[in-house]
Amino acid sequence: MKPKSTHCNRRSFLKVAGLTGLGSMLSPLAARKSSLAAEKLAADNLPIAKRPFGPTGENVSMLSLGGIFDIPNNQLLLKQAVRWGVTYWDTATSYMGGDSERGIGKYFSRFPEDRKKIFLVTKSGAWTLKGMNRHLQRSLERMQTDTIDLLFVHGINDIGEMSDDIKRWSEKMKSEGKIRFIGFSTHSNMEECLHDAPALGWIDGIMMTYNYRLMHTDKMRAAVDACTEAGIGLTAMKTQGGGQVRTHNETELKLAGRFVKKGFTNEQAKLKAVWENPQIASICSQMPSLSLLSANVAAAANQTRLGVRGHRLLRRYAAETASSYCTGCTRICGSAVQQSVPIGDVMRCLMYSRSYGDPERARSEFQHFGPTVHRRLVQIDFTEAEKRCPQGLPIGKLMRQAVDELS
Ligand code: SF4
Repeated sequence: MKPKSTHCNRRSFLKVAGLTGLGSMLSPLAARKSSLAAEKLAADNLPIAKRPFGPTGENVSMLSLGGIFDIPNNQLLLKQAVRWGVTYWDTATSYMGGDSERGIGKYFSRFPEDRKKIFLVTKSGAWTLKGMNRHLQRSLERMQTDTIDLLFVHGINDIGEMSDDIKRWSEKMKSEGKIRFIGFSTHSNMEECLHDAPALGWIDGIMMTYNYRLMHTDKMRAAVDACTEAGIGLTAMKTQGGGQVRTHNETELKLAGRFVKKGFTNEQAKLKAVWENPQIASICSQMPSLSLLSANVAAAANQTRLGVRGHRLLRRYAAETASSYCTGCTRICGSAVQQSVPIGDVMRCLMYSRSYGDPERARSEFQHFGPTVHRRLVQIDFTEAEKRCPQGLPIGKLMRQAVDELS
């Protein structure tokens, strides 16, 4: 299905893209200009397009507001998101120590009429039904709402984690009106989790790591096809494909030249690569500033396609930097080490620190693994895991660097 046309003309988009670029690098003045330019686009064309989300009967905004930022003190950003049509909001019980959900609740208490405009998603990382009950009740209270539109079991590695008990529990919660839909998010073994989800018969939606690096493999294509055929709604995350070692090289510069000519930045091009697959309902993006929000809204509104050459360039860049990117296939490296260590999760912490420029988040998540895991990361021999790693990553070295940099 094609997204609804918003007819943003290329010239106005070029203006916005040129202003916005990498939002975090903008001066306050440029950021303000960017916001104004996007606002103009909004007045002309918005709300941004919506796409159907699986079997839910819901149309969700193709750009989703990720909730890992200081929402209680950025209420205007939420208001602006609504104005621009970014009405799919994603959070989790754990984000910002609960402040993400509290900030959303603060917003709904000020603007209760906006609640019905929002497709509200949260996640529970509880390991027991008792814990899930507690999380859900807390989420409802924090966000000052009677119902969650979609609840994800947070960060599964294997479809076996979606047990019959969770199925029965979700049916009960649906019947009580506390949730409308159920699904899971996954950063690890995504292809297998997606591929196996339809057989369960009760998964409404999935949020998975998916980007220009991962989307072209036969396995990922088959997995996405299986979910589409089963009517499962899909949301992509980690669409920038940031690496754990280093991803900037000469090809990235060439990319910039190519995409600026077309009117968008590398970051916007990476979003567009994902949106050009109509099987993906929405992209979840962390947008903690108005400049990033406006850059992404501008990308969503723009109808210029990447073109064959644009896709080819991105694929070439992905190939050249493959050895710096962990693809999350933890069943491979995890089975090659004697003791249990969350290799994929540690890799993600390195990505937050090195590619996202967010060492605080990286440290916070790394601390959660605890001292026993930190010790193991230094002591374990990862030689066999490195031999099996399809990306050829120096796993042992990266694990030790993570301990040095994030402890
Ligand atoms: S370290 Fe290698 S084997 Fe392990 S998840 Fe990453 S890419 Fe896969």
